[in-house]
Amino acid sequence: MTKPVVRFAPSPTGNLHVGNVRTALINWLFAKGQGGTFILRIDDTDTERSTQAYEDGIREDLTWLGLTWDKTFSQSKRFAEYDAAADKLREMGLLYACYETAEELDRQRKLQGARGKPPIYNRAALDLTDEDKARLEAEGRTPHWRFKLSGERIVWNDLVRGEQAIETSSLSDPVLIRADGSYLYTLPSCVDDIEAGITHVVRGEDHVTNSGAQIEIFKALGGTAPAMAHTPLLVGADGAGLSKRLGSLGMGTLRERGIEPLAICSLLGKLGTSDNVEIRPSLDVLAEEFAFDKIGRSPARFDEDELQRLNASLTHEMPFEAAKDRLAAIDAQAANEAFWLLVRENCETVEGAARFVPVAFGEITPLIEDEDRAFIAAAATLLPEGEMTADTWGAWTSALKTETGRKGKGLFMPLRKALTGMERGPSVGDMLVLMGRERAIARLTA
Ligand code: GLU
Repeated sequence: MTKPVVRFAPSPTGNLHVGNVRTALINWLFAKGQGGTFILRIDDTDTERSTQAYEDGIREDLTWLGLTWDKTFSQSKRFAEYDAAADKLREMGLLYACYETAEELDRQRKLQGARGKPPIYNRAALDLTDEDKARLEAEGRTPHWRFKLSGERIVWNDLVRGEQAIETSSLSDPVLIRADGSYLYTLPSCVDDIEAGITHVVRGEDHVTNSGAQIEIFKALGGTAPAMAHTPLLVGADGAGLSKRLGSLGMGTLRERGIEPLAICSLLGKLGTSDNVEIRPSLDVLAEEFAFDKIGRSPARFDEDELQRLNASLTHEMPFEAAKDRLAAIDAQAANEAFWLLVRENCETVEGAARFVPVAFGEITPLIEDEDRAFIAAAATLLPEGEMTADTWGAWTSALKTETGRKGKGLFMPLRKALTGMERGPSVGDMLVLMGRERAIARLTA
């Protein structure tokens, strides 16, 4: 098989949300798993709604996720190529001028509906003579341009959906150029896919119908249509379509919440596939494991709780090196390997380590119940002298056991509460080593 060349083609009219990140990821995993090329194409032909800030945000988010690109380009730099393709289609009689206003088209559709007919464009513009057109333009109308579909049945073998057929006779001829001269996404996408040598178009199933028209455009422009893969859409945990909240759940929000890129990619890479959803060691491993035939036909359910769980399990095992900089951002002292290895199992995010920083390196309010006062006082006198080491806890608690007769929870819980101010948390013996004798005595005698 020749190496795949794929593209992710976001429009910079908003932030990336989990739905389009999944499309980016699937493209990336497929390309990298086969030693292929991943192109980032910025679909900014809509110059009104596209902004540089959104484009920068898209690049930043993809970089953060690790979905780096081999090549990138913007459609707004390529209008000359699109104009040339449009001219070619006009010469072939496949791109024709239409003068109907939106209201006229709407009226037409209502009339068709009343007659029980499908709302397909009636192609009246194909019958216009040059004089008709001159008259309409003299009225102040400017044409929009439609692609003339063949009326044939377009068939392809979709890598996710299996054999697909679109009856182009059941579609309106698609508008490729608006009356203001701007391009809709359909034609530029084909021109770019041909020129970039795209081998596989991988995108959401909301584009299936477009593919019927685009396959005809590919052929008309003298290219062969790439292979196609249309993935089922992402839906919320309740099974309803990508909710407004989820649809706007951006990478910035997830990053602020301390969610790891690998948790996002592990979830989105496995969701709706026959593989288990679990943390994978790296994007490269996800890429090795990726195959289109593992992707099911039903919508993939995205559950934020599942993302939290995956993130927690990733955090529990995270090596110090990976957490170090973010720990330092919490507190310079928190960038400490022993501290991280001790607390990580009690953290759902790296930032979750913050609550243990005062326990190990600062001040806390000890929790001492009245009935434990005497016991804690005894503990203070029995705490071994010198530096706190890995052996201190064992020696200390066995001396306390002999002295007070307490054991089990009755022995350990008051010590935990007094030394850490918490009822749950990492090993108190190890925490004792980090906090040091002075802090421990201060807490026990508070
Ligand atoms: N800009 C289009 C979109 O975001 C690209 C679709 C495609 O991948 O062909 O929907």
